[in-house]
Amino acid sequence: MSLVSMRQILDEAFKDGYGVGAFNVNNMEQIQAIMEAAKETKSPVIIQASRRARSYTNDRFLYHLMMAATELYPEIPVALHQDHGNSPETCKSAVDMGFTSVMIDGSLEADGKTPASFEYNVRVTREVVEKAHERGVTVEGELGCLGGIEDGHGAGVDAMAHLTDPDQAVEFVKRTGVDALAVAIGTSHGVYKFSRKPDSAILDMDRIIEIHKRLPKTYLVMHGSSSVPKELQDIINAYGGKLKPTWGVPIKEIQLGIQHGVRKINVDTDSRLAMTGAIRKYLTEHPEEFDLRSYLKPAREAMKKVIIERMRSFGQAGHASDYDPIPLSVMAQRYSNGEL
Ligand SMILES: [Zn+2]
Repeated sequence: MSLVSMRQILDEAFKDGYGVGAFNVNNMEQIQAIMEAAKETKSPVIIQASRRARSYTNDRFLYHLMMAATELYPEIPVALHQDHGNSPETCKSAVDMGFTSVMIDGSLEADGKTPASFEYNVRVTREVVEKAHERGVTVEGELGCLGGIEDGHGAGVDAMAHLTDPDQAVEFVKRTGVDALAVAIGTSHGVYKFSRKPDSAILDMDRIIEIHKRLPKTYLVMHGSSSVPKELQDIINAYGGKLKPTWGVPIKEIQLGIQHGVRKINVDTDSRLAMTGAIRKYLTEHPEEFDLRSYLKPAREAMKKVIIERMRSFGQAGHASDYDPIPLSVMAQRYSNGEL
């Protein structure tokens, strides 16, 4: 199977009412962990790379690793998505490289830090939609600003300072034609999401319900949605790490979101925690070891385990063989004739 568009993956998720995890990658072991998890649970999946991931791997390595993934796991529908494209140029380079989906994050200016005006956001997002849809590539936009900074991206604002306004969301989707919309509901990027177990005062799930009511056909995206399990924090801290106490987004809140239009759930931190904990543990217990494979293997296993759990709880498990991939050229025709 070749890479499929994210739109198709989300259309199918919509039909059956489940969510799909979008997992970030930076290297071969992470791609392998995700593909093995998808194989074991028979899940369609979204693999995403940030700008920094693309420069760390170099686009050509990333592209060929993803080609290897589609060759080795032909039964798994997989979309390759640009996470937080900061400008139309970044999104264009992703499309040229073979990404089947891009996010243009016009909620921030091109520096990836300064909150942008609504008009700026509409303008850059519309520009990306026109160019990407011509080539059958899916587009995700963002309205409102998430808290925190991850991979150098983010305003570093308080998570509650720029929540998505439901009325503005309707106007944004109408004027831009995005396939999917990332909404700000109080979550943050990075590991320090909440300083206590989140309740409705700091995680605004009602806002998702409200936005979904007004935009029933737009696929909503939850960013910063790692659950940051205490067991994973504990492993890191038990083997010399120094994480401060922190809370992520509870799985049951994500599941509530999925009942109300959330189709894509971004998870990065949980993979990082799982791999780092496994490496710390292994090296602490085997101080004489210096074979990279000895600690990368348990790290890959630990990430696979957490991804399997997420795939099962988001509901994507079991859906890999529900459909055949639609070529991007056919998706492009569907956009141009107004079917999509
Ligand atoms: Zn994000």
